[in-house]
Amino acid sequence: MRKLFLMCFAFFMALPLLLSQAKAADLQDTRWVTRTDAPIPYVRMVMDLSAPVKAAASISKDGKTTTVTLKNTKLKTSKRNISMDSSIASSAQFVQAGKDVKVTIKTPSALETEDLKVFSLKKDTVNKKPYRIVVDLQKKGVAPKQVNYGKKPSPATLPASSKNAGSGNYSTSGGLKGKVITIDPGHGGSDPGAIGPTGYQEKQATLPISNYLKTALEARGAKVFMTRTTDVDVYGPHASGADELGARVRVANANNSDAFISVHINSFTNPSVGGIATYYYSKTSNDARLAQKIQNEIADTPGFKGDRGIQEGNLYVLRHSKMPAVLVELGFISNPQEERALKNAQTEQDFANRIANGIANYFGG
Ligand SMILES: [Zn+2]
Repeated sequence: MRKLFLMCFAFFMALPLLLSQAKAADLQDTRWVTRTDAPIPYVRMVMDLSAPVKAAASISKDGKTTTVTLKNTKLKTSKRNISMDSSIASSAQFVQAGKDVKVTIKTPSALETEDLKVFSLKKDTVNKKPYRIVVDLQKKGVAPKQVNYGKKPSPATLPASSKNAGSGNYSTSGGLKGKVITIDPGHGGSDPGAIGPTGYQEKQATLPISNYLKTALEARGAKVFMTRTTDVDVYGPHASGADELGARVRVANANNSDAFISVHINSFTNPSVGGIATYYYSKTSNDARLAQKIQNEIADTPGFKGDRGIQEGNLYVLRHSKMPAVLVELGFISNPQEERALKNAQTEQDFANRIANGIANYFGG
């Protein structure tokens, strides 16, 4: 009885799937980039398709070969073998296997399922992007730092400005009024950033929070520059990490900013992980202080799993900016409760006001 029911169920379920898969899609192009603007660096492969495609992924027993199958797809790109990042995912090979395209990715370290993410993106008429399958492969041996409950490092105990001190002409005191702040809404355009369980994209959260932050800072007399104000790439679509992030840092440097704030949402393979962190890079004696002042305000934002502390991170935008800079990771989009909170405009405003308070405290009120 139970078996019969299941068989009928399978039959009815299979029918619409077969219909939707009737027309083959073309794999038109593929590209990859190493992203270092997240706590764990990763290689992102993007495959352009003429129609939506179902994808399946598997990892070999030794963990060093990942196979992604694009169902009912014709291999129309001339790229058959591409070299990628030798420290994360060294190569990808594309072959037509019957009706499907098989993508074989080699990694120097053994991957586990939590290191691999495969998802689809719809056609984007605004940014002129086709249907896409995206494969993210995380670098092994890098874990996001754990929460240090009750043991927040105080800026005074942190390493001082020994590494290439920021050479910018910036001010660190005298109140927020008249200060120049550059805000960087993470990701955008061709780069959605991390994606939550319901499909909410990191770039959809970072932009409104950044826009609210601009309003909050301007209301207190600051002069604000934005790396972007709409859903676009700053350098250009599908640029390398250095080009895209370099373009963002240039906005801050060119405007002689007193502080640079990059807004991101975190993501992790375990959906129960959550909380709020602020990253800094000790290039001046004020980076950690700015991070701590902001973290003090945002750590207990309602709807999130609390304080993950300030953390030193060798992140491009923090290293190359000439002024004190931070990258806030406002919760985890991979956590269903935090993803839901991030969709709420009230929460986004709350984050903006708290970050503005932290920046004001840093400048001395
Ligand atoms: Zn991000």
